[in-house]
Parts: sequence; C-alpha cells; structure tokens
Amino acid sequence: MTPESSPVTSTGDWLDRYAGSLLGVFGRPQTVLTRGEGCYVEDADGKRYLDLLAGIAVNTLGHGHPALVEAISAQAARLMHVSNFFTSPPQVELAELLLELAEAPSGSAVFFANSGTEAIEGAIKLTRRTGRSQIIAAENAFHGRSTGALALTWKPAYREPFAPLIPDIVHVPYNDEDALRRAVQEAGTNLAAVILEPIQGEAGIIPGETAYLALARELTSAAGALLVFDEIQTGVGRTGAWFAFQHHGVVPDAMTLAKGLAGGVPIGALVTFGAEVTALLTHGQHGSTFGGNPLACAAGLATLRTVQAQGLVEHALAMGEHLASAVDGLAHPLIAGVRGRGLLRAIVLTQPVAATVAARALAAGFIVNPVAPEAIRLAPPLIITRAELDSFVAALPSLLAGLAPDPGGGA
Ligand SMILES: *Cc1c(COP(=O)(O)O)cnc(C)c1O
Repeated sequence: MTPESSPVTSTGDWLDRYAGSLLGVFGRPQTVLTRGEGCYVEDADGKRYLDLLAGIAVNTLGHGHPALVEAISAQAARLMHVSNFFTSPPQVELAELLLELAEAPSGSAVFFANSGTEAIEGAIKLTRRTGRSQIIAAENAFHGRSTGALALTWKPAYREPFAPLIPDIVHVPYNDEDALRRAVQEAGTNLAAVILEPIQGEAGIIPGETAYLALARELTSAAGALLVFDEIQTGVGRTGAWFAFQHHGVVPDAMTLAKGLAGGVPIGALVTFGAEVTALLTHGQHGSTFGGNPLACAAGLATLRTVQAQGLVEHALAMGEHLASAVDGLAHPLIAGVRGRGLLRAIVLTQPVAATVAARALAAGFIVNPVAPEAIRLAPPLIITRAELDSFVAALPSLLAGLAPDPGGGA
C-alpha cells in the first residue's frame, strides 16, 4: 500500500483518490498532470496537451525551463528559508528589479507575500492607514478569496456564504466614468482607495479603457485617496508591457502582483509607489513568515531576468497580435472576436458554449479555460511560438463544429 511505488496508477484511479481525500471546493479536476516541458504537459495516461492557460497565467516560462529549474535547484541547496528576522540576496535583488521594471519613483518599496490574495490583504491594510475606510472596487472584479480580499471580489456566490465581510466596500460598473465619479463623490472624505484590475481577468478578460483608468487616477488624487491596481493576472509581461498600467501611462499608488511573478513558485507582492505611500505601513504593522523567502525570490529573479534576456515582453505582444488576427481570420460565425492584450486573451463566442468548446479542446489536446459562458480564456506561457498558437487556431473550427447555429438562424 505505498502510493509512491505505483507508477502505473491511471488518471481515473488518481481522481477517485482525490475525491476521497481533498476538500471538494474545486470540483472534480479535469485530469491528473504528471510532467511538463515547454508549453506542453502530460497526464497520468501519457496524453499530451498544449498548455494555453499556464496554470492561470502563472507558468510565465512554461514548464521545466532550464533557467528557472537551475535557479530553484541552486537556491534550494544554498538557502531556502530564513524568516523576516533576516534577509537574503535574492529578496533584495528581486525587490530592486521589480521597482526598476515598474519605473517606480524613489522611495517606492516592495512587500513580499505568498499569493495574490495575500498581496491584496497588504493593499487593504495600506489603504486603512490613510485613516479612512471606504474602498471602491468594480463589479465583476476578482481580488482573491481570503476574507479581506473577498470583500473586494464581486461575485455574490463567492462572498455571501461568508458574510459579514469587512464593511465600507462599494462596487461600481467597470469602465463607467459617471458611476465612478458618483461613488467617489458619495464617499467624500472617507474614501481610502479605488482598486481596479487594468484588465479584468476572471470577469472574462475585459480591458480597462485608458480614459477610465486615468479618471480613477485623477479622482483619487483629488480626493486624497489611493489608487491601487491589481496586476496579479496582468503583471510580469503578460499583456505586452511589464505591467499593464504602463500601456496607459497611469501610475498607481500601489500595485499587487502574484501569479506569473515566480514562474510557478508561490509568491505575492505589494509594490508601493513613492515615499509618502511607502511610509503608510510602518515597523510591526504587517508581516509574513514565508513571504520573501530566498527560494521564491530566486525563482522570481530567474523569471524576470529570463523574460528580460529573451525579450518575452515584446514577444508576448507580437504573439498576442498574431493570435488575435489568426482567430479573426477564421471569420467563423460562432466567433464574435478576440478581447485582451498580449498573451492575456479571450476568444468571444456568439453563443454561451465556452464550456463545451473547452471540454472538446481538452479531448483534442489543448488546455484552455471557459472563463465566462461565452468566453474562452487563453493565457499561455510567454515562450509560446507562432507554430504552437497556429496549431490551436487550426483546430478551432473542428472544436466549434456543430455548435454554430445557422448565422441569423438563432440558437
Ligand atoms: C488570481 C487573482 C487573485 C488571487 O490570487 P491567488 O493567488 O489565487 O490568491 C487576485 N486578483 C487577481 C486579478 C487575480 O487574477
């Protein structure tokens, strides 16, 4: 009865054991993955998949990238964890590189956590230090699952079973300038912050408009409140800029990062912009046992340096544009268009059949995500090639076959 000595365990057996031992919050996993290389992963039955999701925008460098494996292995052997009573070279180097890539002004700083939701917790605590309590977030926003971040997350099904959550959170329709103006005015001098995703991820890859993000900047500055950008999904080159805010020239007071930052090793970060914002959180007001540990930071450093050395930010932009135009080129009656930027994309369907398309894609050897009933999310590793993207685009018509109603014929 030693599970580790059962290399022939099939996918079905693993899934049965999963059901008998894991909390049911995720439902039944789609399959059991055992290895990966580049943009491909393999399941317990030996089936190969082109990974167009990258663990939800996490595997920046794909699977088994030599630079990342080498950095993690070397750091694991050298020094893995020290607590925040101490620091280590990778922690300092990663913080410095993040500030440089974010073009953050002097006095800016980084707090390291272990996940996205923890980065958001840090941001919430930062906003409380303004002495105000109201936070404006967007409808359909996703900011995480811990009870603080959950109050900012929109979806009632995620929030309501856990009420009451922290108070004084207002949700406004995304990209609606008048609604934002009204909410800021109503909050008055109790407005602590506005928090926005520059592209809403879980909502279905909805890009924020430059004018809207700039208005959020203008209104928060005028109100003496903070502007927080949640770049947990959009950061680290994914959209074809190091950070999505750089596309818009709208600089926040704070930014959260996580998913792609360490290429698959758990990490989160809160970046504070400028000395005044940085000074809001002082000695003893926040902390983490694991946050900023040398292993995660070495992985982050290797990820950022590889993205930098291989020009993967520019590559993400070019591959994203190639993907969008190739999908548009299909002129398929079931495809309404492609949303997003760089390699954070949604193929928008004219019918709510994304779940069926994703299931067919999996069967055909492609991992994609039905992020909304009518939207298929693609967030592949930034190393993905034109040929790999083309193999999916070539398969798309067969994945949609029989689902498309006669154009004009209704569903
Ligand atoms: C994934 C995500 C989070 C939460 O990150 P976790 O690591 O799952 O806690 C928060 N905000 C955004 C925009 C995300 O995409």
